[in-house]
Amino acid sequence: KLTCDDLVSKAKKAVLSILNKLYKFEDNTIAIFVKIFDAQVQPIAQYGAEVWGLQKNVGTEKVHLFAMKRFLGVGWRTPNDIVYGEFGRFPIYLNSYVKCIRYWLKLTRMEQSRLPFKAYKMLYKLDCNGRYTWASNVRKCLSLYGFSHVWDNQGVGCVNNFLQCFKQRIIDCRWQEWDDHIQTSDRFALYKTFKTSYIREPYLLINCNRFIKCALTKFRCGVSDIKVHRHRYKNLNIVDMNCPLCNSADEDEVHFVLCCPAFDDLRKQFIPLKYYRYPNLFRLGLLLATQNENILRNLCVYLYKAFKRRSVVIL
Ligand SMILES: [Zn+2]
Repeated sequence: KLTCDDLVSKAKKAVLSILNKLYKFEDNTIAIFVKIFDAQVQPIAQYGAEVWGLQKNVGTEKVHLFAMKRFLGVGWRTPNDIVYGEFGRFPIYLNSYVKCIRYWLKLTRMEQSRLPFKAYKMLYKLDCNGRYTWASNVRKCLSLYGFSHVWDNQGVGCVNNFLQCFKQRIIDCRWQEWDDHIQTSDRFALYKTFKTSYIREPYLLINCNRFIKCALTKFRCGVSDIKVHRHRYKNLNIVDMNCPLCNSADEDEVHFVLCCPAFDDLRKQFIPLKYYRYPNLFRLGLLLATQNENILRNLCVYLYKAFKRRSVVIL
């Protein structure tokens, strides 16, 4: 744990320095950020993962989430599953799992006279006698993903084929877990209407001002200033949910983007009429799920200006 904590602080420093440089170059395209993260930060955060990679609750995933949330410009409390969904990325602990299993396979094929092999055999015997060791983690991981026979055989024929299969299996399981969480939790009631596949969101590929893009991110993640986001976990019968600008309805996502008369001029300018002629949740879902770059760019500007107007009126 101490080693991991040290890695976490080093990796965080690397993330901050990368983000500062990207801001300086005014480049906020996600592809560059992800590429630099994988090349510069992952090797730091995953150093020695062969040894600790199968431990639960190590902090390295925090660095990954920290980097993604910082890049998106959202707060620490933004739900992790939405952040993974927006990026279309899997947690980096999956890579640690693969590293561990690869190293375990290497150990099983090692010459019997070598020290790492002898050490592994000791761990294996301890595990057989009921003690919890590194070998127990490997055994548990393999059986969790349906590869108990590999543990029983203490190895595989073709390492590369097996690792490919193992990697695909853990990715599929993770995808299933993510989808299940999104579909069943009330927190994602709106998100699931427009997020249907685990891919990188096209609006993140647009190169425009990061503050303008951030308005759409916050809205999609449900962490903006509008009342339905602010008072999500409070008793709605007690909290005043009326729209502070028009006082005619509850301030929810549909009202804010498609209905509120206070933004009629912005709406006319930035949102195609087909989305707000008959405003409802379905239309809002369609608008947020669009892949059209122009519509997405205009939606970012609409939200940015609307949030700004709202904050001025409330003050
Ligand atoms: Zn209103």
